[in-house]
Amino acid sequence: MWQAEVRVDLDAIRDNVATLRAGTTAEVMAVVKADGYGHGMLPAARAALAGGATWLGVATLGEALALRRAGLTAPVLAWLHAPGLPLHEGVEAGVDLSAGSLPQLGELVGAVRRAHRPARVHLKLDTGLARGGATPADWPSLAEAAAKAQADGEIEVVGVWSHFVYADEPGHETIDHQLAVFAEGLATAERYGIEPRYRHIANSAATLTRPDAHYDLVRPGVAIYGLSPLPGPQPAGLRPAMTARARVTLTKRVPAGQGVSYGHAYHTSRESTLALVPLGYGDGVPRHASNVGPVRLGGAVRPIAGRVCMDQFVLDCGDDPVAAGDVATLFGPGDDGEPTATDWAEAIGTINYEIVTRFGGSRVPRIYDGTAGVAASPPEAPGSDSTGEAG
Ligand SMILES: *Cc1c(COP(=O)(O)O)cnc(C)c1O
Repeated sequence: MWQAEVRVDLDAIRDNVATLRAGTTAEVMAVVKADGYGHGMLPAARAALAGGATWLGVATLGEALALRRAGLTAPVLAWLHAPGLPLHEGVEAGVDLSAGSLPQLGELVGAVRRAHRPARVHLKLDTGLARGGATPADWPSLAEAAAKAQADGEIEVVGVWSHFVYADEPGHETIDHQLAVFAEGLATAERYGIEPRYRHIANSAATLTRPDAHYDLVRPGVAIYGLSPLPGPQPAGLRPAMTARARVTLTKRVPAGQGVSYGHAYHTSRESTLALVPLGYGDGVPRHASNVGPVRLGGAVRPIAGRVCMDQFVLDCGDDPVAAGDVATLFGPGDDGEPTATDWAEAIGTINYEIVTRFGGSRVPRIYDGTAGVAASPPEAPGSDSTGEAG
């Protein structure tokens, strides 16, 4: 018997990757950072590889090393490191690391001296996001220093890369502008003798909408979990992989005008049945979903009644026949009329990325469906994960 669970459909992740792969001549880097957007980094990575991804992408060195410790040997890129981290551990583990400034490149070269093998580096150009990477003004000096370190046998420049500002708004003027800056940066790097095997800039949105941005490698994240970063209908061939649901712990009849949950932010409009659902912000349900988060229970989708608490929230079911033990579905693929993570995002003013990612590492048991990538993974095999420990 279960109380609350997050189900993750591994076959959906595999098939989503296969769909993306079929739409490009580039290789696919499956982005599995942040615990695989809440789906479980290792099972998600294995399912993505089963679907034809040849690279894995993560933000942190710690995430990359966890992939290696789990025995995954595919190329891995990690792109976000503060100074002083043990980058040599990444170099030793054959993790590709990003450098977006001279100090970052210097740290990598330092790490190489401890690791006794060349670092695999992806030079990052800031084409306009103003987050990581070298500005176009600083780019020539970074390219020059990298070329020298490469000539000295300290690093291998495997990639040159960048990231979009606004690819989720197809046609936005920044997209073409960034592509032009990227092309120019590649030409500059080439003048210093840097001709990387992998040039990459496309996230999910650009993978779906801009084949001219695919270059040698695309880096989809949210799309491999079956969620669309784009406005409009669900792209064909993508299926949401996560379902979050819980079983009603009790129901009660209350009179009209009953205030519900902390602060009585909701009042019943008539005599009504309330149902208590055992999921809260301690599990990943945003507190901003108070009074608006859509939940399917008893054949209808109802907004949460009142505040989301740490462990629970309430639904007002009117006169519908709901009972303790009934299943309340917060979001899923939408097959049975349940809301999707995208519906949740729209209801509370965020993006579907955040809805699913919040359930990562939560106390809710994560149960894996499907077999994609499972055979290759005895230690953390999803099938053996039914105790609910997150992968
Ligand atoms: C998270 C991330 C991605 C994946 O983005 P999606 O929009 O989820 O496809 C790709 N590249 C970088 C640098 C990222 O940080």
